[in-house]
Amino acid sequence: MNAVSTSGVATNGFPALVLNADFRPLSYYPLSLWSWQDTIKAVFLDRVNIVAEYETAVRSPTTAMKLPSVVSLKTYVKPSLYPAFTRFNVFLRDKFSCQFCGSPDDLTFDHLIPRSRGGTTTWHNVIAACSPCNLRKGSKTVDEAKMWPSQQPFQPTVHHLHRNGRLFPPNYLHESWVDYLYWDSELEP
Ligand SMILES: [Zn+2]
Repeated sequence: MNAVSTSGVATNGFPALVLNADFRPLSYYPLSLWSWQDTIKAVFLDRVNIVAEYETAVRSPTTAMKLPSVVSLKTYVKPSLYPAFTRFNVFLRDKFSCQFCGSPDDLTFDHLIPRSRGGTTTWHNVIAACSPCNLRKGSKTVDEAKMWPSQQPFQPTVHHLHRNGRLFPPNYLHESWVDYLYWDSELEP
């Protein structure tokens, strides 16, 4: 498309939810979203099918095209079983609450075995903790501080984080995305 008119279409607006070929999101955390520019490129390269559209269109002199709001890949990508070790994902595993006192406020991270004692920055040693608890524990071990986390930290699967993620929906969810994000929610007990 040449000379595309994009007036009224913000550069960072109208993201498309990207589904795998099985119509599940390619990734939940972070949610797989493409800019509308990348999405249109993928449509023209024939890499995706358009599943749903926004009302807003971009125009060339000869055609108009509604911006896709959901696309699915034509080729299935094998999803990874384990999510990346990121700050956000540690918080999500721990449901955005201090693992010592349960507070959702002023969250930071605590190394159960302090780094000064050789503790590693891994799924098995890092937990969400509020700043007061983190300060109180300091460079002591859990036994020395007599502070034990409510659950032993573990490496979550994508499924774990997906389940927890339902408790914390993203700030922005286009209506056309919801079916694909919560399609299996009724299977939960
Ligand atoms: Zn706390």
